[in-house]
Amino acid sequence: MLKTEGIVLKEMRYKDTSKILSIFTKRYGKIAVMARGAYRPKSQIIANTQPFSYNEYQLYKGKNFYYLNQADIIDSFYDIREKIERVVYGQYMLELIEKSMEDGQENPKIFMLLLKGLNILSTMDKDFLKFIIAYEIKFISFLGYRPFLNRCVLCGNENLNNIRYSPREGGIICCNCFSLDSSSIYLDEKLYKGINELLYIPLDKIHKVQLSAECLKKIHHIIVQHILFNIDRNKLNTLNFIQVLEST
Ligand SMILES: [Zn+2]
Repeated sequence: MLKTEGIVLKEMRYKDTSKILSIFTKRYGKIAVMARGAYRPKSQIIANTQPFSYNEYQLYKGKNFYYLNQADIIDSFYDIREKIERVVYGQYMLELIEKSMEDGQENPKIFMLLLKGLNILSTMDKDFLKFIIAYEIKFISFLGYRPFLNRCVLCGNENLNNIRYSPREGGIICCNCFSLDSSSIYLDEKLYKGINELLYIPLDKIHKVQLSAECLKKIHHIIVQHILFNIDRNKLNTLNFIQVLEST
C-alpha cells in the first residue's frame, strides 16, 4: 500500500462505472489510477476523482495501473469552477503537466508550484494572463528549460541593445546571430524586462508587475513557443480556449 498526496489532472470513463485517472502525486510523479465504481450514482469518491481535486491517496500497485483504495480530500478547489477564466487557466495548468511529464517522473517543486498556483487561481478575478505567464515560466524552468536571458545563448554576446528571442535555442540571441534562427521573435526593452520580471516574481506578487495588455500577449506567445518546443508538442488543447478568452 502506498500513501501520497496528489492532484487529479484528468479523468476518463472506463467501462460503465469506473474511471481511469491521471493523478499528479507528490511522491511518485504522474501516475494512472483506476478508481472502481467512481461513476456509480452513490459513489463515495465522486469529489475525490474530479479534475483539480487534491487528496491524500492510499493506492496499491497493479500490473498496469495503480488502484485507488482510499482518498481523503484536502481541497476540492471548488472555487475554480465558479468562474470560466479560472476553469480555463486551471485546465491549462493541468494539461501542461499531463502533456509534458513522463509517468513516474517525480518533481516536488512542480507539485508545490501547481498547488500554490491553484490556490491563487481560486480567488482571482483579473490579471489571468499575467498570472499564467508567471506560472508558465516557473513551470518550464522547474522542468529544466529555463529561458536563457543573460546574454546571447549562441555566442555569449552581452550587448543586449538589439535582441530577439529564439524558442528553438531557449533564450535570447544577439543581432550577429539573427540569421541563425529566422523564426526568432523581436524583443524590445519592455518585453525583455517583462519576461525577466515575470520569471522572478512570486506568483502571489504579480500585481507588482506593470505590463500593457499588448506586451502580455506578446510575452505569452514567446513563452508558449518556448514551452511547446521544449516539450516537443505542436499544440496544447486548452491554449485554444485561452486564445478565445483573451480575444474578447
Ligand atoms: Zn549572438
